[in-house]
Amino acid sequence: MNSLLIYHNFSINKILIFISFFFSFEKSIKSLKCRLMDSFEKLVTEAKACRLCESFLPLGPRPVFSIRPTSKILVIGQAPGTKVHKTGIPWNDPSGDELRRWLGVDRDVFYDPEIFGIMPMGFCYPGRGKGGDMPPRPECAPTWHERMRAQMPVVQLTLLIGQYAQKYYLGATRKRTLTETVMAFEEYSPVYIPLVHPSPRNRMWQRRNPWFEEEVVPTLRDRVHELIRV
Ligand code: SF4
Repeated sequence: MNSLLIYHNFSINKILIFISFFFSFEKSIKSLKCRLMDSFEKLVTEAKACRLCESFLPLGPRPVFSIRPTSKILVIGQAPGTKVHKTGIPWNDPSGDELRRWLGVDRDVFYDPEIFGIMPMGFCYPGRGKGGDMPPRPECAPTWHERMRAQMPVVQLTLLIGQYAQKYYLGATRKRTLTETVMAFEEYSPVYIPLVHPSPRNRMWQRRNPWFEEEVVPTLRDRVHELIRV
């Protein structure tokens, strides 16, 4: 009888220890999440207020990006055009429509930051040059990208759109031309997929390179939908 009582008390003690351990563990996780969220929000506020290269920006600073610590796919493009600058919504233009077609997603999915983080090489509209928009400001990515990527630990795929993103992220592993880099997209898998810019000005490039629509787009779509489902 005595041994039964001792066994019974011992089991209750074990359950109580387990419950208190569980609640203190849950509390620690919650406080860690709060601290991560705090530092993430601080970083976003700091980046939105950036004026680092203000003197070079004809329309002034307006950093456009959309990220969350839980984003699964990171889209790294060039820099906002005038329409994106005006609305503050990334890829809110014909290039964005074409990109969404390649990805096989609608606007609701594309603008869900839990799925897509959107972070260009230059966050602000850089102005117009002779042959179109100027390149992204060179100060921007080195100032912000690493810090932002450190806050997005679950990104599983990064889309490198255009030569500036490919140069910055692929470095010496990039091929001689953008076409060759995009053609070799499987070499950079599963971390990156390099893409041509989906601008209407590149429609001719797409017509000249039918393999892009036949091979790259379906692979891209499959990979993206696989990650959306997870
Ligand atoms: S382009 Fe980048 S570095 Fe320049 S002001 Fe905008 S956010 Fe800052």
